[in-house]
Amino acid sequence: MLFERVAFIGIGLIGSSLAHVMRRDKLAGHIAVSARTQKTLDTALKLGIADSVSLDAAEAVRDADLVMLCAPLGANAAIARAIGPSLKPGAIVSDVGSVKKSIIRDVAPHLADGVHLVPGHPVAGTEHSGPEAGFPELFDGRWCILTPAEGTDGAAVETVADLWRRAGMMIEMMDADHHDQVLAVTSHLPHLIAYTIVDTASDLEDHLKKEVVKFSAGGFRDFTRIAASDPVMWRDVFLSNKEAVLDILGRFTEDLTALQRAIRRNNGDHLYEAFTRTQEIRRGVIDAKQDDAPAPPEEKN
Ligand code: NAP
Repeated sequence: MLFERVAFIGIGLIGSSLAHVMRRDKLAGHIAVSARTQKTLDTALKLGIADSVSLDAAEAVRDADLVMLCAPLGANAAIARAIGPSLKPGAIVSDVGSVKKSIIRDVAPHLADGVHLVPGHPVAGTEHSGPEAGFPELFDGRWCILTPAEGTDGAAVETVADLWRRAGMMIEMMDADHHDQVLAVTSHLPHLIAYTIVDTASDLEDHLKKEVVKFSAGGFRDFTRIAASDPVMWRDVFLSNKEAVLDILGRFTEDLTALQRAIRRNNGDHLYEAFTRTQEIRRGVIDAKQDDAPAPPEEKN
């Protein structure tokens, strides 16, 4: 057992997947869960991933050795303010948020000396949300990025790293600022593009829209999967990582304009060269074994 008592604040896709891992591998003596609604708490009890539940986050974290913040990013400041005074000395506070600088900004000021903040981001997910979407294999073979501030207690960092390794993840340490720049490219920009493409299609005249759905296997389908991701989570990601997203969006817009010009001027060489460079990146993704999306058990085969 890694922890006598763990508290999850938020138990959606990511929180419930980690709670399933803790159950499967008997990593926690007691799992306390808090969420925004009673319905979610009842579901967590029904799924067997909570020993106790409370709508009051401060009550859930009492005596916890590890507190995992698994709510949308925009909720973290209020949650940290509420739980801060109830955390036990020596407790570890960690999280799973997709942006790291904002977590440190929102959470750190509410923690007493002797409480260890170890921010983390398991880079794994699906477009589904809620406690029933979780499954323990979600993290298998993926990276978990930890971004502790300099001077953070080494044993606390190692404990969190150990937890994610047991969930099947590989660990990378990174500065929070660097994390947010990297993820702006690998995750935030692709989601923004998918949301835009699908929104553009939703604005078409009715007779065109029908054909878009019918022939979606031509590429559109893959964007609809990404654009089906939770709107609250993604609203918070963009507002929390504004600077890095706007920076990469500026570069993307320039490249898009260059392709637009190449098409207008019949500049096939420019298009060919750009499309050849991108194949190399694809080969790199396959070589790094990051090309297959993990599927919930019932979707496998
Ligand atoms: P989710 O499935 O939508 O679940 C969110 C959970 O947070 C729900 O249990 C919700 O409770 C709870 N919650 C919402 N507001 C709250 C509040 N004010 N106080 C307490 N609990 C609250 O979300 P998720 O996909 O697991 O994402 C959670 C975090 O993981 C986000 O920060 C996200 O950036 C990060 N992340 C997500 C992915 C992904 O692919 N989804 C991947 C990596 C990291 P109710 O159901 O009662 O509202």
